[in-house]
Amino acid sequence: MTNRQKKPLELYVHIPFCASKCLYCDFLSFRALRSVQEEYIMQLIREIRAQGACCREYQVTTVFIGGGTPSVIDPLLIRDLMQSLFENFHIAGDAEITIEVNPGTLLQRKLPVYRALGINRVSIGLQSANNRELQYLGRIHTFEEFLKSFQYARMSGFSNINIDLMSSIPGQTMDSWRNTLKKVTMLKPEHISAYSLIVEEGTPFFEMYGEGANACGQSPSLPDEDTENRLYHLTRSFLAEQGYGRYEISNYSRPGWECRHNIGYWTQIPYLGLGLGAASYIKGCRFANERDMDAYLSLDFSEAFRDNALSCLRGAVHHLTREEKMEEFMFLGLRMIRGVSELEFVSMFGIKLEHVYGAVMKQLIDNGLLQKKGVWISLTEWGMDVSNLVLREFLLD
Ligand code: SF4
Repeated sequence: MTNRQKKPLELYVHIPFCASKCLYCDFLSFRALRSVQEEYIMQLIREIRAQGACCREYQVTTVFIGGGTPSVIDPLLIRDLMQSLFENFHIAGDAEITIEVNPGTLLQRKLPVYRALGINRVSIGLQSANNRELQYLGRIHTFEEFLKSFQYARMSGFSNINIDLMSSIPGQTMDSWRNTLKKVTMLKPEHISAYSLIVEEGTPFFEMYGEGANACGQSPSLPDEDTENRLYHLTRSFLAEQGYGRYEISNYSRPGWECRHNIGYWTQIPYLGLGLGAASYIKGCRFANERDMDAYLSLDFSEAFRDNALSCLRGAVHHLTREEKMEEFMFLGLRMIRGVSELEFVSMFGIKLEHVYGAVMKQLIDNGLLQKKGVWISLTEWGMDVSNLVLREFLLD
């Protein structure tokens, strides 16, 4: 099979380690000894060999090393990991390869190593330029440490940098958020992700701010609903003025620097998750890897036991029905500002979009929540504001 005939595939590699746990975080991440980190990467490499052997018909177009905090581990472990990815998958010459990093994890010596390994995009977790807000979130770094990380990334040759920001955090005001946006855009990163804080069950924030909690004592309150809306609208207008186009509900970039990996998720490019708890969508199936570290480390990925290990790793595999694929096409595609294409829908499902969703689309267009431009259907500004409610309408019974 020639490279041209190979199907596109995205890889997500999960590094579940962090220096400490942020108060709002419900990701699969934790502190671990260096010996555990080493053992994990060795097992991950065995998994990569086993998974790669089943993916010969694919060409990898993007790789995302996320977490957790991949930059918390020894860069030589990242080197071993990258070598193994290149040995076991066919990675396209122009692949976008991202690593997530956090300030406060000794980036000065690590970033040049990443660049030399072929990693060409860095995603830096900042969240806020206000040190008090960073403290409320339980982040381990200051804004000044972030600035150094950003400079190190540029000095190491990274010309594609994302900065993660968070709005609606405790104590945040319109002024402090404007200040964060201002300080960040002055650095001219290529990409900015700006999500609103979600108080997730099982986190310390849920105890402090979840249903029935009494945010009292030392903790500042969360912005009220009105402020939250104003923060959200400020993000959009401020970033637009600074030349950042919004291409998805929470993602902005300078022209041409949209994240290819994320666009793949929203346009149903198959992706394979590698490592603890990583999720996959491949060959029309969704599944998530084992989440328990001991169980993960005990899997035997040697050739003789490979199939058994992969099936234990994946647990329950869900085969999407045609209807579920259509729903996902709409849910995910409409997150993007450009929306979904009628032509693509026909070519994927062999039926016209209006035959499946004609009535719901008409109603949403009449109500000013959806719009049609040529073959593209997209949410209006208002539709974006209430996207959770609008997207629900595309569920097929
Ligand atoms: S750095 Fe990220 S993954 Fe780690 S605890 Fe904080 S929010 Fe969670």
